[in-house]
Amino acid sequence: MGWHEVLGHDAQIERFRRSLAGGRLASAFLFIGPDGIGKQFFARKLTQALFCEVRPEQECDPCGECPSCQQVMADTHPDLHFVDLVPGTGEIRTAQIVGGSFTIDKREEVFRGACYEINLKPIVAKRKVVIINQADSLNATSTANLLKTLEEPPPGAVLILLGTSLSQQLDTIISRCQVVSFQSLLPEQVQQILLQQRILESAGDALELAMIANGSVGLARKYNEGNLLEVRRELLDLLSNLPEQTERLDEFLSGFVDVKKLARNEKYDRIEFLASIVISCFHQLVLILTGQELTGDQVLVQASRKMADVWEGDVETALACIDRTLETRFHALANANVKTLVGAWVDDLGQIWLTGGFKVPT
Ligand SMILES: [Zn+2]
Repeated sequence: MGWHEVLGHDAQIERFRRSLAGGRLASAFLFIGPDGIGKQFFARKLTQALFCEVRPEQECDPCGECPSCQQVMADTHPDLHFVDLVPGTGEIRTAQIVGGSFTIDKREEVFRGACYEINLKPIVAKRKVVIINQADSLNATSTANLLKTLEEPPPGAVLILLGTSLSQQLDTIISRCQVVSFQSLLPEQVQQILLQQRILESAGDALELAMIANGSVGLARKYNEGNLLEVRRELLDLLSNLPEQTERLDEFLSGFVDVKKLARNEKYDRIEFLASIVISCFHQLVLILTGQELTGDQVLVQASRKMADVWEGDVETALACIDRTLETRFHALANANVKTLVGAWVDDLGQIWLTGGFKVPT
C-alpha cells in the first residue's frame, strides 16, 4: 500500500517524487494546513518512502508492506522519532525537544529530546527522521533549540514540522524550512476515507458528516464520536418547524451546551457547532430567496426548503438572523454565561422571525 492511500494531496506527492528522483531532498520541512486533513499520515508515507527496504528512495514509492514500512506506521521504527502533544495537556513540553523528564499519569517519563535523537546515527535506515506533530504549540525554548539544530542539520537527517498556519510559526523557523502547503479535502474525499476506515457504514451518512466537517477527517471523526450528526439533524428539524417551536429550541440548545461536566472551552465548541448549523441553514434560505443554486447536503437542503415554504420575510430578515447568530458566537468567546446567552439568542431569533419572517401562528 503506497501513496494511493493518501487522498487529495497529489501535487505534494509529485513535489517529493521530483526532489527524491533528483536526489535533492531538503533537511527540514514545515507542513502547513488545517488539522485532520492527513498531514501526519502524509509525513509517515514520506518516511516510508525514505525507509522502504524494497523500493529505493529515488523512486519515492514505498511498498507499504516490508518490515520498515510497517514499523513507520506502527511508530516502532528505530530511526523515526515522533513528537506529539502530551495527552490531556495540549502542549509539547520542552523536555520532548531538548531532553529531560516530567510526570505523566504519576509516572516519571525521561526524554532524550528530538534535537538529540535527530543527531544519532541511523540504525536500520539510511537517515534519521523526526516528525513534530502540532508544532503550533512549541514553546520559545523548544523553538530556540530546534533553530540551532536547523542551522547545522545532521547529514541526511530530515525534520518535519506539522502546523496549521504560517502565522503560528516564527519567521526564523519558516526561513529554515521548506514550506509545503496542504489544502482541505473535498467532501467526497473525506467521505471515501470515512468509509474506508469504517468510521461510518452508510455512504449517505458519511457524505453528510463530510460536508459539515470542512474537509477535515479529524473533525468528522470527532463529530461522529459525539453523535453530532444526530444533534444537527434534530436542530435542523426544529429550525424548519419554527416559529411554533421556540421553547423547544431553547430547551434543546441549552440542554446540549449547558452540561455540568463540560469544560468552558467545550461549551464554547458546542455553541460554535450549533451556530454554524443555524448560519448554514439561513444561508441556504438566502440562496433560495435570491433564486440561487443550493450548495449543502441533502439534510440541510431539505430543512431549508421546508423553512422557505413558511417564510414570509425578505432576504434582510434572514441576514439579520445570521448576524444575530454571529453575535452569539462572539459573546460566547467573551466568556458569557452560557444559559443566559443561549436564551437571549433564541428569544431574539424568535423576535426577528415573528416580526419579519414567519407567518404568526394562529
Ligand atoms: Zn517497504
